[in-house]
Amino acid sequence: MDFESRLGDALADMGTSLEAASKQQLFCALLRATRDLELEMAPAAGDRKLYYFSAEFLVGRLLRANLINLGLADEVEALLARRGTSLAEVEDCEPEPSLGNGGLGRLAACFLDSIASLGLPGDGVGLNYHYGLFRQDLSEGVQREEPNPWIAPDSWLVDAQRSFSVPFGFGDLEARMYDIEVPGYGNGTVNRLHLFDVADPAPAPEHGIAFDKGDVRSCLTSFLYPDDSDEAGRLLRVYQQYFMVSAGAQLILAELEERGFAPEELDRHVAVHINDTHPSMVIPELVRLLVERGVAFEDAAGIVERTCAYANHTILAEALETWPMWYIERVAPGIAPVIRQLDALARTRCADDAVAIVDAADVVHMANMDVHFSHAVNGVAALHTQILVTSELRPLAELYPEKFSNKTNGITFRRWLMGCNQPLADHITAAIGDGWKRDASRLEELLALRGDDSFVRGLLDIKQRNKFSLTAWLRAEKNVEVDPHSVFDVQVKRMHQYKRQQMNALYAIWKYLQIKRGNVPNRPLTMVFGAKAAPAYELAKDTIALLLALSRLFGDDPEVAPWLRLVFVENYNVTAAEHLIPAADVSEQISLASKEASGTSNMKFMANGAVTLGTLDGANVEIADLVGRENIYLFGRSSEDVIGLYERGDYRPWDVWQADGELSEVLDLIVSPELLARGDAGCLTRVYRDFIAKDWFMALLDARDYVVTKERCLADYEDRGAWAQKMLANVARSGFFSSDRTIREYDRDIWHLA
Ligand SMILES: *Cc1c(COP(=O)(O)O)cnc(C)c1O
Repeated sequence: MDFESRLGDALADMGTSLEAASKQQLFCALLRATRDLELEMAPAAGDRKLYYFSAEFLVGRLLRANLINLGLADEVEALLARRGTSLAEVEDCEPEPSLGNGGLGRLAACFLDSIASLGLPGDGVGLNYHYGLFRQDLSEGVQREEPNPWIAPDSWLVDAQRSFSVPFGFGDLEARMYDIEVPGYGNGTVNRLHLFDVADPAPAPEHGIAFDKGDVRSCLTSFLYPDDSDEAGRLLRVYQQYFMVSAGAQLILAELEERGFAPEELDRHVAVHINDTHPSMVIPELVRLLVERGVAFEDAAGIVERTCAYANHTILAEALETWPMWYIERVAPGIAPVIRQLDALARTRCADDAVAIVDAADVVHMANMDVHFSHAVNGVAALHTQILVTSELRPLAELYPEKFSNKTNGITFRRWLMGCNQPLADHITAAIGDGWKRDASRLEELLALRGDDSFVRGLLDIKQRNKFSLTAWLRAEKNVEVDPHSVFDVQVKRMHQYKRQQMNALYAIWKYLQIKRGNVPNRPLTMVFGAKAAPAYELAKDTIALLLALSRLFGDDPEVAPWLRLVFVENYNVTAAEHLIPAADVSEQISLASKEASGTSNMKFMANGAVTLGTLDGANVEIADLVGRENIYLFGRSSEDVIGLYERGDYRPWDVWQADGELSEVLDLIVSPELLARGDAGCLTRVYRDFIAKDWFMALLDARDYVVTKERCLADYEDRGAWAQKMLANVARSGFFSSDRTIREYDRDIWHLA
């Protein structure tokens, strides 16, 4: 049946027609027609199947992405045009699934898209959070968290009619499986994202996101990353993790049996990927299930080691998970003895306590377990992998050098260029044909167009058009006004001290003081921020309050407002990113060197023709190598310097502050009467004190170099011809960061699916 007839049937079922339907009805009918078409399609086949385990899948809205991959986007656009509307208007009815936090979850979503698009057999395994990550409310000048329910009567979730019984300490809990279809791009493949859920989920809390964390049976899938500042919250995280991996491991063994293989053959027919440490308990759970099926413990451990692979996403110590053994004994008593046995086995390979799974305090080190009992371990950008091997996981890397490799992250160009920036995608296709849509490395063909005036002009024109579109979206959706002819300088990502939004705030204050002294810039500047802070992360929330106060200060000042605007976009998510990134001129990637494992928004910005202002951290290093120093703005201390400063413990922010009069003037503004009148005094004071007394991520150390480099970048922006060449170089070299390339490498070196 053709798609138009399917859509007609879906509308008729709803008692309406293409002509009469509301936008909401059009969205529901498109969702049903697309989902039902996908349910008739087959998953990729192969001898070895991948299960990609992740606590987060930040998939974003799915209608447009699915239509693009199914090759139906143009047809649907034409159908909707007949009815006087557009896909953009209709998709505004789609709630964004809030199944992820940030980069790690978005990476998992890009990977599923690439796995299906390369025709590889691989499904995602995760949890069906009902209220997801919170929705951010900034109306009071500080962040408030609200539940973000996204599961409507018509949703992408399909009841798979399959469930597993998870053996918790308090008794068994049923895990029901729901699927989201994942179509490949133009290849007729549909893989699945399996999301497990409790049978009797709790309703949304009345106010905020506080709920009864002890009510595991109904609250287990309420929220992603429940507040872990108390024990009940930490235990709930362990309940969530074990629920996900136990149900997933049972699914794997059931499918193995359905395919006609014995449990001993697991490693030959299955690859398990552990996305960061949250799914680590899949290792002891698979061992437990194999032993239950009659496999000897040591054999089971070997099979599981050959099946599993682990990707590390951070070197921040607080993010390398450890759990007291008694948590596991209470939550998942079936695997506690397995973990002790695995620890004993690992100690026969290496007696060093630094690599133990269970330490002397009876605490379980998840990353250590992952490295001992995976056959492959990877970092997510060249610099990150190097730091893992030479410092963070050094003893383990010395024990198992053959396990370690790098897999630099990527993004799917279907969503992050074709989907969110159609004008640019069309401009590229008109110039070099559409081969780049299947093979992003062919974007390099654009380099031959450096002398083609109309192509180069077109880049500037499209950027301006996207800035007009963003201006309209910000007005309609976020109630903020920006000047579309200003420079759009954008920092959007989770709020974290290591990402250093607070350093960008120092630039904003410096610029404000310059303007007050009469040094107005060549052109107005719009500084755009978007970020959620973890609910229990006080300093991150304080930084949001600082930025909101600065936004008011600048907006209230008639001398400043025409030249400098600071816009904080509420509730940053994938949908917001899809509007912001195509319109950005400058991409802020200013983490303290050595702290950002990779970053992926840096890649999205690059593909959309923004120029990076950043430190040599994460994948910025590879961006710089690809585009050349003339097409990126680099500043700040190197990762070696930073690691040395931490080792010696001799960074003193108050020395920097005392030595630099201009910097101390900038900092004083944070606690000045005019700012205190516009923001929460407690928040502002804490930020100020932290800068001077602690500054753990060394914002003051790099602040001067940052200001100078940003000024140079903004001055260069005025040479529009030269800037357009920088844009061209960035777009043309961005193809390396296609997640298709990343997935090919995972498959070639780790999964061996094809
Ligand atoms: C890409 C993306 C991220 C990751 O951003 P980084 O700057 O790499 O940390 C986070 N959130 C959303 C919504 C994204 O789309």
